[in-house]
Amino acid sequence: MAKRDYYDVLGVNRDASEDDIKKAYRKLAMKYHPDRNPDNPKAEESFKEAKEAYEMLSDGQKRAAYDQFGHAGVDPSMGGGGGQRGGPNFADAFGDIFGDIFGQARGGRSNVYRGADLRYNLEITLEQAARGTETQLRVPTMEECVTCGGTGAKPGTQPITCRTCKGHGQVRMQQGFFSIQQTCPVCHGNGKEIQDPCRPCHGAGRVKSHKTLSVKIPAGVDEGDRIRLSGEGEHGVNGGPAGDLYVVIHIKDHSVFKRDHDDLHCEMPVSFTTAALGGEIEIPTLDGSARIKIPAETQSGQVFRLRGKGIKGVRSHSTGDLMCHVMVETPVRLTERQKELLREFDAISAGAPERHNPRAQSWMDKVKDFFQ
Ligand SMILES: [Zn+2]
Ligand SMILES: [Zn+2]
Repeated sequence: MAKRDYYDVLGVNRDASEDDIKKAYRKLAMKYHPDRNPDNPKAEESFKEAKEAYEMLSDGQKRAAYDQFGHAGVDPSMGGGGGQRGGPNFADAFGDIFGDIFGQARGGRSNVYRGADLRYNLEITLEQAARGTETQLRVPTMEECVTCGGTGAKPGTQPITCRTCKGHGQVRMQQGFFSIQQTCPVCHGNGKEIQDPCRPCHGAGRVKSHKTLSVKIPAGVDEGDRIRLSGEGEHGVNGGPAGDLYVVIHIKDHSVFKRDHDDLHCEMPVSFTTAALGGEIEIPTLDGSARIKIPAETQSGQVFRLRGKGIKGVRSHSTGDLMCHVMVETPVRLTERQKELLREFDAISAGAPERHNPRAQSWMDKVKDFFQ
């Protein structure tokens, strides 16, 4: 049956004010209210029609959509795949009141909900993040109860038609002079009532269980990245689609490397003789070790960059770098002989300290300026 124009239903002009619309609706609501027309089934239809027209035209946004696109602009059951299964969820898009109206108008169950999205926190090592990995997740789920086969009724019994709503899934509630359709509180909209609930599932038809999922973690993921497993979230209600499962990546601290996006940083201890005289040292990278040439007169805090030894991020086109931060080490547990040599070294350097310790000298100059 084609829907009537909402303005015609309320008997107002297209440029009617909000007040006019409200007045027109009140008049119709009083006239067609089911309580005043117990023997006239057509009155209920008219009442619903007026109510729907009012809900649409009293909401500025919906009225604008209706003015532009007609019924298709406001009614998800017209075009756009607003079916009960898989389509956009009424409760989400329009709020419960609208869901109830449309659900009833289409003669179906309106309590179809998409299952909730779930989150799973997955901790992996830096190496796994860099190279990618595959892992198994054990996630909670609900599965059909084997005792009752999902009906929720004790074996040998069957659910009966809900006595509160007579199987409609909806009940009429009186609020002031409005009559509002609501989901039946006894059967929660599915129209069935269980008199003798199944023990293991307490009448729910489902029991808590676990499932194991295999997840591929792509190479280059970073802290906080999310991987969506479509349809692995919570079950939908009354045949609604399942939600999604989001695997959120957390990367464990690494003993050597710190990650900064695609770059890696590490501390590189260098002996004071190598720092002074130059040399070569071996450093670890994520794929084996590498050798770095340390030039003579290297200072603490200097950074050596190894190109391409970082991480190739999931969304990056190139691989990051490894930054080695020099830490010149003060020698410890010196023998008498070593101390003797250092004292000798000090003695022959004492004549020109600024020549051998350029940083200390410039620092002393700054301090002097500061106190003048
Ligand atoms: Zn059961
Ligand atoms: Zn019911």
